[in-house]
Amino acid sequence: MNNDIAKVLLDETQIAAVVDGIAEKINKDYKNEELVVVGILKGSIMFLADMFRRLEVSCSLDFMAASSYGSSAVSSGKVTIEKDLSSDIKGKHVLVVEDILDTGNTLSYIKDYLKEKEPLSVKICTLFDKPSRRQKPINPDYVGRTIPDLFIVGYGLDYNEKYRNLSYIGVLKPEIYS
Ligand code: 5GP
Ligand code: MG
Repeated sequence: MNNDIAKVLLDETQIAAVVDGIAEKINKDYKNEELVVVGILKGSIMFLADMFRRLEVSCSLDFMAASSYGSSAVSSGKVTIEKDLSSDIKGKHVLVVEDILDTGNTLSYIKDYLKEKEPLSVKICTLFDKPSRRQKPINPDYVGRTIPDLFIVGYGLDYNEKYRNLSYIGVLKPEIYS
């Protein structure tokens, strides 16, 4: 299955299997614990929605939004929080859910920011990881797929705010962005 804009990397069935695997690990690790799941808007929404409903632990849900400035070629690494938590995480286990960990600038900023609020723990769960692009020493605790330096869209992930609605995850064809 390919279409005009992207070459399929994971179809719906493959995504479901990846999400199941992550949820299973989280259920095991946080058994008998109380968890605050923090979704990073907007890219994580599909992954979060599917993963969250597979959780069998006692959990609440909150959101944050952040933007990092600088062109994609020369990332400044400067991150701004656009939407903060609406609940108190002090003394609680926090699991940050992200679509993709790339340079690490966004998540390392968010992780440091959350730690100042004195949670019991902060762990990172990401659907995709591109470790070859990392600029900050941060690694995910839960990862769906590790991928090379490709630009992917669909299932929440965008290119200029488009393609989030694709039910699969695809590698954007170069002719779309060049
Ligand atoms: P970082 O701060 O780790 O460089 O940036 C992570 C953010 O960049 C992700 O949350 C995502 O919004 C965006 N990003 C990085 N790689 C990709 C990609 O391959 N596709 C899409 N759609 N967004 C990406
Ligand atoms: Mg994102």
